[in-house]
Amino acid sequence: MNQTEFRARALRLKEARRLVVKVGSALLVDGRSGRLNRAWLETLADDIAAATTRGQQVIVVSSGAIALGRRQLGLAPGKLRLDESQAAAAVGQIRLAKVWQEVLEERGLAVAQVLLTLEDTEDRRRYLNARATLNTLLGLGAVPVINENDTVATAEIRYGDNDRLAARVAQMASAECLVLLSDIDGLYTADPGKDPTAEFIPEVREIDERIDAMASGPTSGLGSGGMTTKVAAARIAVGAGCSLCIATGHREHPLAAIETGERCSWFLPSTTPLATRKQWIAGTLKPSGTLTVDDGAADALGRGKSLLPAGVLTVSGNFGRGDTVSVLHNGAEIARGLVAYAVDEAKLIAGRRSSDIEALLSYVGRDEMIHRDDLVVNGQRGRE
Ligand code: GLU
Repeated sequence: MNQTEFRARALRLKEARRLVVKVGSALLVDGRSGRLNRAWLETLADDIAAATTRGQQVIVVSSGAIALGRRQLGLAPGKLRLDESQAAAAVGQIRLAKVWQEVLEERGLAVAQVLLTLEDTEDRRRYLNARATLNTLLGLGAVPVINENDTVATAEIRYGDNDRLAARVAQMASAECLVLLSDIDGLYTADPGKDPTAEFIPEVREIDERIDAMASGPTSGLGSGGMTTKVAAARIAVGAGCSLCIATGHREHPLAAIETGERCSWFLPSTTPLATRKQWIAGTLKPSGTLTVDDGAADALGRGKSLLPAGVLTVSGNFGRGDTVSVLHNGAEIARGLVAYAVDEAKLIAGRRSSDIEALLSYVGRDEMIHRDDLVVNGQRGRE
């Protein structure tokens, strides 16, 4: 595959509405000195700023807390005990957040620190909350800089590697593209460090056992991820309709380099994030409640609009915020969606204007009963 072909593939990066960039510890922190590679980070920050200038929303998943903290705490080289790595993360995360804040604010971008645990991405309600927060931050033009909350995540409940975390973040944010910046430029048929016949794989459309076998390759000394975790991340991302790119970060302006056709490995999905999400909503076997809507609302849903409280006639069932409900019109199901309010609140605001929500509930809630991104209207599924 030549540079022109790589450049064509990289349109997935350039044209993604939402982009997640994962940066490994081995890139951010110099292995020998334990110091931060600030000059390199400045060049990545330039690329991120360029993406936001093009109108893209960018989320950063950054490792490096443990690597930075261990130096500051004077911990000896080698493997750390869990409690030591948690202590190192607590110290290093402050520095990590600070440096991201500095480099991105210098480029006019607001920076938001988000620390997640495994449960925040696996538990449905916490997942929806984290998703809503990310949406709000991105909508306000901020760049979320995410890491695992290592200090509180004990052995059984931790991701441990940021490749998988980044994939779950991409899924949660419905991102179209995830770039894993790594110390290797992509996937090979074998470990190129050990096997001179190893061949580079530029594109993967199906992650099968062959790909898994190729991935049992190199790990770097600093981070936790090897090729195995990258392929596991690719599985999550592709399953969520997100393209994933493994690329080297061992060069300045690593995102710009991908855009101009430097080689990297792409894992390509066969669907889009929105379609995947809608399939998931449509696939809920048993909705937890129903909302009956009037003619005006039924018509609006048919035109791809959100469901507002004003168009809801009756509410029944037993559901919490984020549960799937069925939308009925004249006795027939016309849509399904994730409802933004729990049943008691939904009953209070049904039939009322969105501007009354604050007075009725004593807090400022969402304007929509079901947002259009969270709705699947019957007969429209095929068009997503
Ligand atoms: N969360 C860890 C850190 O910030 C990194 C995990 C990984 O290496 O992927 O140090």
